[in-house]
Amino acid sequence: MTTVLKKKTSFFTAVMLAFFSLSSAYSDEDHAHTLTPEEEERFYDQAYQKGDFEILNFRFEQTHWRECTDEVTGNYSGYNCANRRGISVILKDFMDNHMGSCVQAGLDEVDGGILEDLHIIHDGILGDRRHSPKSMHAENRAIDIRAFRVTNNEGMTKTYTYKGTTNRTFYKAFRKCWGQANKVYNNCPSYQGNISRTGSIGWEDKSHQNHMHTSVPYCVNGSYGSYYYRR
Ligand SMILES: [Zn+2]
Repeated sequence: MTTVLKKKTSFFTAVMLAFFSLSSAYSDEDHAHTLTPEEEERFYDQAYQKGDFEILNFRFEQTHWRECTDEVTGNYSGYNCANRRGISVILKDFMDNHMGSCVQAGLDEVDGGILEDLHIIHDGILGDRRHSPKSMHAENRAIDIRAFRVTNNEGMTKTYTYKGTTNRTFYKAFRKCWGQANKVYNNCPSYQGNISRTGSIGWEDKSHQNHMHTSVPYCVNGSYGSYYYRR
């Protein structure tokens, strides 16, 4: 009798655990550690020196962001711009084709003028897939943005820092626009029916007070792909 009860209990526990791990897979809490420039260098060195090519085996096509010279420039916070930084083709495409217009959507809300030059100060793109394989960072499909440095058509340069509430109006407009871009050009449904939380995690999550997680989720035919996190 006791054995049966125990079995029932452990079955119930297993079901509950499965349920919680399934639901936590899509919670706001999930966030991979993104690699610092040094960690990123070690990550790639390891692949070449130890022949651990598995870690280079991205599932989505990859390219480079030339942070110093591409149309949208950038740097890892506290470091100089990198000549080349690994990035997925799709995130690079979204940065080239939609990030400027979404920054403009933000500028429109705060009378910031017309965008001329855009520079992103970020906390990294790549995450180690051996630790967090379902993260968009494991595939270079997400960037953690700390600030946009904007030069407008009057030649004025202003940095819109994400942290704090000073630029909240700007970032609200940005996120709504970015969500719409993911819906229209990436075939993603609204995340939990909220377009502003589609393709981004922000101030509503306790681990995203210093940077805005900005992603191009894996979507197929209007649905989120089952393996990866949805943001
Ligand atoms: Zn992130």
